Amino acid sequence: MVTEEELAQMTPEELAEFQKQNCVFCQIASGKIPSKEVYSDEESIAVLDINPAAKGHMLLMPKGHYSVMPQLPEHLAEHMFMVTKGLSQAALKALQCKGTTIFVANGVAAGQKAPHFMIHIIPRNDGDGISMTIPSREFSKKDVEAVGAVLKKVLWRKKAVEAEVVKDEKTTAAAGIKKGKSKKAAKISGKNRKQESKKTGKKSFDLDAISDMLGK
Ligand SMILES: [Zn+2]
Repeated sequence: MVTEEELAQMTPEELAEFQKQNCVFCQIASGKIPSKEVYSDEESIAVLDINPAAKGHMLLMPKGHYSVMPQLPEHLAEHMFMVTKGLSQAALKALQCKGTTIFVANGVAAGQKAPHFMIHIIPRNDGDGISMTIPSREFSKKDVEAVGAVLKKVLWRKKAVEAEVVKDEKTTAAAGIKKGKSKKAAKISGKNRKQESKKTGKKSFDLDAISDMLGK
């Protein structure tokens, strides 16, 4: 049994390894824990949920240990969405359901219980009694405008960083020098984040922090 104190003393690498060793879904992905597998490729696996909301409720997960969506490498995020499309299609065809609910609980606040990222694919039929009700609330025009502006600002900044990386790649290729492109991107985004914190006086929004919460 590992104590809180021992956990606190672990390096980030040791902590990641510890999480992986203790992750039920990593053990399902590696076959150590038996499951009803319906699909598998090099990087992902889909199994039937042991507590299904409906017949054919599938869980698609990466074979590697990633707690939350922001940790997924871009190619894997793309790949998993394509596999999700295929699984949904298979459910519609094989189970003759009328639709599918595709669902991700990304972070504790969103109801995530397991520390391993996964996508739920739930076959749906009329009157199947599954409730996924998202409330419809009223906010003031001022609040809606403010939240839109803040989101736009962050998204455009991300675009600017990506453009900077592309520019950097081109310059590097032209000069024939090997240089860390992601390092530069991290530097830029880190700088922006710091500036943002300074301006607003608030802690910047960081989904990666959720994985730390999940790991404890
Ligand atoms: Zn895992």
